[in-house]
Amino acid sequence: MSITPLMPVYPRCGVRPVRGEHCHLIGEDGTRYLDFASGIAVNLLGHSHEGLISAIQQQAATLMHVSNLYGSPQGEKLAQWLVDKTFGDTVFFTNSGAEAVEAAIKTARAYHQNGEGGEKNRFELITFHNAFHGRTMATISASNQEKMHHGFSPLLAGFKYAPFDDLEAAKALIGPNTAGFLVEPIQGEGGIRPASVEFMQGLRKLADELDLMLVLDEVQCGVARTGKLYAYEHYGIEPDILATAKGIGGGFPLGACIATEKAARGMTFGTHGSTYGGNPLAMAAGTAVMEAVANEEFLASVTEKGERLRARLEQFIGNYPELFELVRGKGLMLGLKMKIESRPFYVHLRDHHQLLTVAAGDNTIRVIPPLVIGDAEIDEFFDKLSAGAASFKVSEPA
Ligand SMILES: *Cc1c(COP(=O)(O)O)cnc(C)c1O
Repeated sequence: MSITPLMPVYPRCGVRPVRGEHCHLIGEDGTRYLDFASGIAVNLLGHSHEGLISAIQQQAATLMHVSNLYGSPQGEKLAQWLVDKTFGDTVFFTNSGAEAVEAAIKTARAYHQNGEGGEKNRFELITFHNAFHGRTMATISASNQEKMHHGFSPLLAGFKYAPFDDLEAAKALIGPNTAGFLVEPIQGEGGIRPASVEFMQGLRKLADELDLMLVLDEVQCGVARTGKLYAYEHYGIEPDILATAKGIGGGFPLGACIATEKAARGMTFGTHGSTYGGNPLAMAAGTAVMEAVANEEFLASVTEKGERLRARLEQFIGNYPELFELVRGKGLMLGLKMKIESRPFYVHLRDHHQLLTVAAGDNTIRVIPPLVIGDAEIDEFFDKLSAGAASFKVSEPA
């Protein structure tokens, strides 16, 4: 037998973390890495955060799991936090981002189909090129990226793809079957590409005029990452439905679909469910994260650190005009767009300078540190990045 016990769907690298300390990971062999990847925008509070650990430990010792057939004081508390701090009126908890997007897709379809005088033909969502929405059948179908489709046909029907940030193209795809739009306000896997204000406001306007659902996938850009609790706040609009996950559990698997009362009109008794979704242990983790990040002081600190990091990155790339094109993103969701393929440089930083980042589409390096970084971590980051750029040879293999 040559297959590995872990199904070989990931090209796993030689970094083998066994311990985390604040913004560092320690490998099996004792190597210490600076973690500016955060488990892909998950570990908002870094590793081994005392408040998060104690919330999980206490809840684990009290009550870990019960069925959603019972009342949930723990779920009500976290849902109330989210309702108070966002556009939403109601929340469905999931265990992952893809499930949160699935719930959002179902909510958008059900808005049209299960509402009064349901319109069964309104099932199509307009999505955008290079989007990433997860790896379930519905969420790969929602993306135009063929590398995720290969071998898994037939896809789920009901998605049409328009170029990202192109309002006219999105408008041109609207037809009698359209249920709404599904979009990342800042594309993550696609290369940290923020949508323009005109585009997001234009989608909102079209949705209002035509009674369509504006569904945001904020799985990566949400939960304080950009200096706002959710990225839509940068755009002066509110969605009808929003999917959140990654950072919301700080490392504990948790996601949610947040909706307005109007948008959730089709999600009635028996229409959706999850065995684990919203269990007391996950709710304790999510509540601890919200208590830490959903306040003005914390959000302002993310904005301030993001601006500082960005200014230094912009200065830094000036020293290497042959390698880097530009810096983009918001808050602590930053992308370094390269003039060459970004993967070899990401590997070089990881293997030769113990700096963990994430490669993304459009030749981008994602700079997505824990939101609790301080001056020392920012300085260490630039030390490693500078050393990495100085020693990098463009021909290095990935
Ligand atoms: C990561 C991600 C997902 C999928 O989340 P999983 O927890 O891996 O299922 C969906 N949408 C976006 C924008 C993401 O970044």
